[in-house]
Amino acid sequence: MAGAELIGKEELKEIEVLFETGIFARYSLDKERQGIWKVRDFEKVFAKYFGSQYALGVSSGSSALKIALTALDVGPGDEVICPAFTFMATYEAVLEVGAMPVMADIDDTLNLDPDDIPNKITPRTKAIIPVHMCGAPARMDKIMRVAKKHKLLVLEDNAQACGASIKGKMTGTFGQMGIFSFDHYKTITTGEGGMILTDDLDLYHRAEWYHDHGHDHLSTVSRALDGRTILGFNYRMNEIQGGIGLAQLRKLNRVLAAQRKNKAAIEAILAPIPGLKFRAVPDPNGDSATHLAFNLPTAEQAKTFQKALKAEGIDTVCFKDNFWHYVPNWEHFLSKSTAQTKSPFTDRRNRKATYSRKAIPRAEDLLGRTLIMGISVKMPAARMKAIRKAAANAAKVL
Ligand SMILES: *Cc1c(COP(=O)(O)O)cnc(C)c1O
Repeated sequence: MAGAELIGKEELKEIEVLFETGIFARYSLDKERQGIWKVRDFEKVFAKYFGSQYALGVSSGSSALKIALTALDVGPGDEVICPAFTFMATYEAVLEVGAMPVMADIDDTLNLDPDDIPNKITPRTKAIIPVHMCGAPARMDKIMRVAKKHKLLVLEDNAQACGASIKGKMTGTFGQMGIFSFDHYKTITTGEGGMILTDDLDLYHRAEWYHDHGHDHLSTVSRALDGRTILGFNYRMNEIQGGIGLAQLRKLNRVLAAQRKNKAAIEAILAPIPGLKFRAVPDPNGDSATHLAFNLPTAEQAKTFQKALKAEGIDTVCFKDNFWHYVPNWEHFLSKSTAQTKSPFTDRRNRKATYSRKAIPRAEDLLGRTLIMGISVKMPAARMKAIRKAAANAAKVL
């Protein structure tokens, strides 16, 4: 909830000027906009912050995934390996481009298990989407090695870990492309919005063209005179989102510092509890700390502990039970209920992929005994005290 907690006069100041020019569109209208380019500026500072060559602001994290897959030329006949623990948009984006999502297991980082990738590779596998869930990175060093060995493209879904890093390298910059989301719940927010990062100029061009009907954005006279080489669609970000994004990005370091401090304080409270273990994080300094994840030896103990915390007003999520973030719980996905009658599922040329719980033993075990607590920027002393009291009571029932 980080960024949303801090919405204030800085965001308002960024967009006020747009109400003077009346230009909310990101492209063209050069004279009328009086030199104001909010989305363009947001992209520039975003790319710089993350140490990436190119950034493209788009309408959402979901559209960012679809645009990136399109730029990477993933389509019908291709398979894309995704972790079993992710938000549904990762799988939806693969289906949107006509490809087949292939489910893989997670490891103790709660993210895509690099060792399970080879088990899921077929001659049709074209790409992998590691997802950095709940603020902390997947084992990207190993995932990149596996990808290189098998000549697979890597698109990082970094919607949930804006600001995370591994030994100083930001998540979202390991693969050929990385995406971010700025929806209400993400680390920084523009209400709705997304960003794509890449160091590859060709991929950037393809994404940029595709997200705006093929426009090459080269005309200095009029948008109507833009050239075009490929067809596209409309996934543009607007100037209001760009302005809010600029103000939010300036708050990102403060958000990360506050979350890390609060997470460390709660970790210290929970650490002495016998049998309780924290989620593995490849580089503890690089956790964006939006969440604190810990596990207990058995699912029963986790349930008991969760109930006891809840009785004291402290909420945690067991993602094995979650409706939107765990493949085996997506009944409409499992029954292949798409909006249109024809889909990658009904294409006979596609291999039947399995989404059975048996295919993901580590996710079934780990997620079933892991509890995840949201970390806010603002966690006053009273809240910390409540967590301390709840944890002490919950520890007694174990
Ligand atoms: C939020 C989210 C998305 C989608 O982002 P939207 O901006 O909400 O479309 C994609 N992947 C993950 C892992 C997410 O959490």
